[in-house]
Amino acid sequence: MDFSRTDAQREILDLVDRLMRKHLPPEEVRRRDATHDDCSDLLKIYGDAGLLALPFPEKLGGIEADRLTVMLVNERLGYHASIAASLYSTNVDFGGMPLLAFGTDAQREQLIPKLMRGELRFSFALTESNAGSDAAGLVTRARKTASGWAIIGRKLWITNANTADYLVIACRTRPGSAGRDGVSVLLVPRRAQGIHMTPLSKVGNNCMSSWDIGLDDVEVSQDALIGEEGQGFRVLMHTLQYSRTSQAAKAVGIAQTALDEAKRYAVERVQFGKRIADFQVIRHRLVDMQTRVDQARWIAYHAGWLMSKGVRCRKEAAQAKVVASEALQYVTHHGMQITASLGYSMDGDMQRYWRDSRLYSFGEGTNELQRDLIAKEMGL
Ligand SMILES: Cc1cc2nc3c(=O)[nH]c(=O)nc-3n(C[C@H](O)[C@H](O)[C@H](O)COP(=O)(O)OP(=O)(O)OC[C@H]3O[C@@H](n4cnc5c(N)ncnc54)[C@H](O)[C@@H]3O)c2cc1C
Repeated sequence: MDFSRTDAQREILDLVDRLMRKHLPPEEVRRRDATHDDCSDLLKIYGDAGLLALPFPEKLGGIEADRLTVMLVNERLGYHASIAASLYSTNVDFGGMPLLAFGTDAQREQLIPKLMRGELRFSFALTESNAGSDAAGLVTRARKTASGWAIIGRKLWITNANTADYLVIACRTRPGSAGRDGVSVLLVPRRAQGIHMTPLSKVGNNCMSSWDIGLDDVEVSQDALIGEEGQGFRVLMHTLQYSRTSQAAKAVGIAQTALDEAKRYAVERVQFGKRIADFQVIRHRLVDMQTRVDQARWIAYHAGWLMSKGVRCRKEAAQAKVVASEALQYVTHHGMQITASLGYSMDGDMQRYWRDSRLYSFGEGTNELQRDLIAKEMGL
């Protein structure tokens, strides 16, 4: 394994830095967080810069970069702003990955080029009121019609659903089925008749809106199906494996930026005639924070490297998500302690890192469930 950056990766990351400095500098991140701006205007900028084309094959007009490179982009976007990375991964992972692996040629050729240009937005709708960790407990159903399907049910906590062009919806297409069997994934235009959305409020990730979606006999055509009818759980698990490695990379980026802020403060802040960084308790805390971030970074890169090689890595993707989300929470918890009143102030950034980070250990599959998955992969 060699994780030294290639010239191409260095150029891409420099490009990310330039774009973020221009379009999302720290004062703009603060402004957008305060106004709950969804930042969706950034997608076109990503598209024009070629960032959205990175994971897709050349035959569709993509760049065909490996997964590790895509994760490096997620990490660097997360370093600048968590919303910048979330916007990127929501579209690439939740829209692009299921279409690429399971879509028909027509779906891929019609939708992926638009996604790469930043012209299409996607949301992933799996969670329901009684199907959170137990995703296989979902009850939203689609009944067969003459021309396709009619979907009835309700989805909860769906990110950016209000601005999506398409909702990737998991539902039961086999009457009487239970568990993982009989689930299908349908690509539903957000403006289809019968979709009602209510916003949900939350403590962090303000730029990423969350929605309760009612699906009241929403009709879609037969070609809305992604993958085989009744085999949708494979599509869901494949998609989540990608999104978990993105979550890990984002978490590493956000953790590093929070740590850098705590370090800056510790070096500048003088109490009792000394830099607070000179007190051993603070120095050691910063060391432990950096050590956890480095551990998370290498384990995430390892998962990305395995994915790039096409090696099965359910265990490593789950481990990366667990280690990185917990490193992020460790860093923001201690970062708040080190920056104290400044960190707690709404004028600073630490409070935002701290609020945003809380999601990472349960979003996209709780860490308890990830540990169960790892245990199974270990043969326990
Ligand atoms: C801001 C935000 C954005 C989200 N975005 C999306 C989205 O875009 N699309 C989408 O589909 N979903 C989304 N979700 C939903 C998210 O994926 C779920 O919150 C998550 O899967 C956990 O489900 P839950 O909240 O219902 O928790 P629950 O399943 O009720 O779990 C509660 C607690 O019980 C534990 N637990 C449950 N079962 C077990 C078990 N067998 N063993 C041990 N512990 C267990 C859990 O680990 C957790 O600690 C989002 C959620 C949030 C908050």
